Amino acid sequence: MPVIRPQFVPPGSMFKKTLTTEQRLRKDAKVLRAFIAVYCRVHHLRHGAAVQCREQGRDYCAECHALLHYALQRNDRCPLEPKPACKDCDVRCYKPQMREKIREVMKFSGIYYVKRGRLDWLWHYFF
Ligand SMILES: [Zn+2]
Repeated sequence: MPVIRPQFVPPGSMFKKTLTTEQRLRKDAKVLRAFIAVYCRVHHLRHGAAVQCREQGRDYCAECHALLHYALQRNDRCPLEPKPACKDCDVRCYKPQMREKIREVMKFSGIYYVKRGRLDWLWHYFF
């Protein structure tokens, strides 16, 4: 079993104010949907990938749709309270392959949204 540090709060975290679990899940889900959608649009849909699914006004190819639901499920099942940023967490609940994918998405889309002034959606909250 990995060592769990339930009291751990990342230094400089903008989430010091405690969200309820439900608020956190809603916020994280919104960020995940937005981040994966923009990554998919630029890397897959624009290059001819088929839209597998449209959810809440955003389109995803099959691969990204699977990634989105994987990430939402991991997030839902996070055993830590308060949940740390994934990059600061020792649990490593993502499969290595999915972890690599989501890191790539967060990096790309984090830069994309920061350039558009969404500083409140800092990607390193996740990875
Ligand atoms: Zn995609």
